[in-house]
Amino acid sequence: LKIAVLKEVGSNERRVAMVPVLVKRLTKLGASLALQTGAGVAAGFADADYVGATTVDDPLRVVADADIVLAVQAPSAAVIAAMKPGAVLASFVYPQKHADLLEPLCERHISAFALETVPRISRAQALDALSSQATLAGYYAPLLGAVHLPRILPMMTTAVGSLRAARVLVMGLGVAGLQALATAHRLGAITEGYDVRPETKEQAQSVGAKFVDTGVDGRGEGGYARELTAEEQARTQDALTLHIQQADLVITTANVPGRTAPRLISRVQIEGMKPGSVIVDLAAESGGNCEGTVPGETTTVGRATILAPLNVPSLLAQHASELYAKNLLSLLDLIVKDGALSLDLGDEVVAGTLLTHAGEIRQPAARRLVE
Ligand code: NAD
Repeated sequence: LKIAVLKEVGSNERRVAMVPVLVKRLTKLGASLALQTGAGVAAGFADADYVGATTVDDPLRVVADADIVLAVQAPSAAVIAAMKPGAVLASFVYPQKHADLLEPLCERHISAFALETVPRISRAQALDALSSQATLAGYYAPLLGAVHLPRILPMMTTAVGSLRAARVLVMGLGVAGLQALATAHRLGAITEGYDVRPETKEQAQSVGAKFVDTGVDGRGEGGYARELTAEEQARTQDALTLHIQQADLVITTANVPGRTAPRLISRVQIEGMKPGSVIVDLAAESGGNCEGTVPGETTTVGRATILAPLNVPSLLAQHASELYAKNLLSLLDLIVKDGALSLDLGDEVVAGTLLTHAGEIRQPAARRLVE
């Protein structure tokens, strides 16, 4: 069984799909590893660290005889076209952004596992790359915010008197938001959290935060939020104004599957924020939660600074790669038996994550893209 690991080509991408400490686990699965030269360098791993792996310079050659190709972002159509027919690809794919890949994936009969579609169920937690990467992004957001604030986060008693703790408000309490709350709490801030899913109240409190209750229940399907009506949106916005304007640091992470990010903070609300206050908009990738967010850039609105970093997990490439590689290993544990590929299409996790297989697009949302 041959496994190939590609070097990422995206401009913001430093992660790699396999890390040296896990190479032994691949050997145990009965696999040999071919690494595209320099694949791990941006994440801090030299080729020589991958003991036992061969290195191949050309991406088209490294995939040519591989049974399984591992990557972080979807490879190009040319790389897919060079893959062995019937091979497995495991990476984030996001066909909505890369519809051009569906044809080569089908044409080569590639079994493509789109990591962004791993079912959010307990049994699939070990494969859940969205969660592993969101955890790191959530951790990073308060740190990024802290270094941009003109004040410190914890209460501090000094010889000349005390400094008050900063107030941090996190809006959107999914995986990233809860981790952001926990990190800000550990750094000594006074924390508040808000989400449209009522079950997040208890989760926020469990990491030391107060919950801002707006009285709007925005529970959607499958544990996700739904889009709010205009009236609900106006009501929540009103209830949140005071909390936004009392905060020194606001971290926003709100997303609704398949939509652009909901607008949580208006320009008027930002203009009412305290001097030196900072917003870290972790939803920048899907358009941002604030009026005034420019994805990938730092902007100033009134007296506040809005940071809208893209691909945050990649800024923590070493650990992000390690967790992502562990997610992939858990997938391999499901689809490799006795040293050979064995895909059980009756398995809920395999079926839910497979985007293309045997020449067909299996996920309805992706199928609609080519109809
Ligand atoms: P996400 O990235 O889709 O969204 C982030 C948060 O934004 C969510 O908590 C959502 O409720 C919130 N949100 C959406 N619209 C909002 C609005 N208008 N105002 C305020 N908040 C808003 O979320 P995620 O981190 O991917 O997690 C989504 C769900 O999946 C959560 O319930 C999470 O607990 C669950 N989950 C389950 C598993 C599992 O069981 N294996 C794993 C991971 C996540």
